[in-house]
Amino acid sequence: MLILGLESSCDETAAALVTGDRRVLAHRLLGQEAAHRPYGGVVPEIAARAHVEALGPLVTAALDEAGVTLSEVDAVAATAGPGLIGGVMVGLVMGKALAHAAGKPLVAVNHLEGHALSPRLADPTLEFPYLLLLVSGGHCQLLLVEGVGRYRRLATTIDDAAGEAFDKTAKLLGLGFPGGPAVERAALEGDPYSVPLPRPLLRSGEPHFSFAGLKAAVARAVGSATPEDLAASFQQAVVDCLVDRTRLALSRAPQATALVVAGGVAANAAVRGALEALASQHDLRFVAPPLWLCTDNAAMIAWAGAERFAAGLTDPLDTMARPRWPLDPEAEAVRGAGV
Ligand code: ATP
Ligand code: MG
Ligand code: FE
Repeated sequence: MLILGLESSCDETAAALVTGDRRVLAHRLLGQEAAHRPYGGVVPEIAARAHVEALGPLVTAALDEAGVTLSEVDAVAATAGPGLIGGVMVGLVMGKALAHAAGKPLVAVNHLEGHALSPRLADPTLEFPYLLLLVSGGHCQLLLVEGVGRYRRLATTIDDAAGEAFDKTAKLLGLGFPGGPAVERAALEGDPYSVPLPRPLLRSGEPHFSFAGLKAAVARAVGSATPEDLAASFQQAVVDCLVDRTRLALSRAPQATALVVAGGVAANAAVRGALEALASQHDLRFVAPPLWLCTDNAAMIAWAGAERFAAGLTDPLDTMARPRWPLDPEAEAVRGAGV
């Protein structure tokens, strides 16, 4: 089985070819950091326009690199949401056009499912169910992954996502854009216990997250310590929250066969290290994808497409792009009532 995957939901344009037996034949990616840097964040209209220009050539390059033609592909998988709607539409329309032209099925992939299943692309021995900490630019959730398309959300953030907090902290500290890797680099030179910062919701009875208060505390502390000490203290506070909340979720998910982390923030070495230690305290396997598979890419979309295609799940060509698309609609429904 051979799947072409397309990703365009934020500021990475990407195309990849992945086989059903987990061989990544090609993965091409074009970041848009330079285009967005002057604005200190992703500008949706600039992103959508850049996806239009980049995606076609990336698909051609990926097919060339893999040494295959479109007619050899079994299905075309494209991110259909959630994300910046202009960008999502660009990738989904391209996916529909390629699928239609080649007479192959379309798989409309939830970007979050791409992140959620990416550890199974990296590790063939990872079985369902597993407890997933999904930490990215727009999400911070604990999910019990029971199977393809079967996600039970145990927790979410009541305000900001962890990646968003990294990005805003980087901006406050003048470390530039994109923020996560910049904060991690600066933190290496700082003392993680030099600046007292809050750990919102630590030890609270539900495993939810909150980062808005931490971000505000960083804003107040700017100037009172070096950017390195502030970055290290901020990162430590995030790690403490992630570990504490994940520990509580683990106690509620005894069926989990592994602790798994995915999403852009999973690229952070301090986050990975602390979660690995937590897993070993619980005698659980720990699985984290390689760094390139943590941040946005098309291999994870192709792989989620492969898993869905293998399960007989394909989508009609009139499938709509969705700016919001929860993995666990049931959990999302109660969000309005509190969290
Ligand atoms: P979502 O997946 O929720 O729609 P997204 O696709 O924009 O959001 P990802 O590409 O998965 O997010 O992750 C990007 C986020 O990860 C950014 O907020 C970025 O700062 C953060 N990030 C990337 N690398 C690191 C790192 N080394 N340390 C901490 N954060 C990081
Ligand atoms: Mg990005
Ligand atoms: Fe993402």
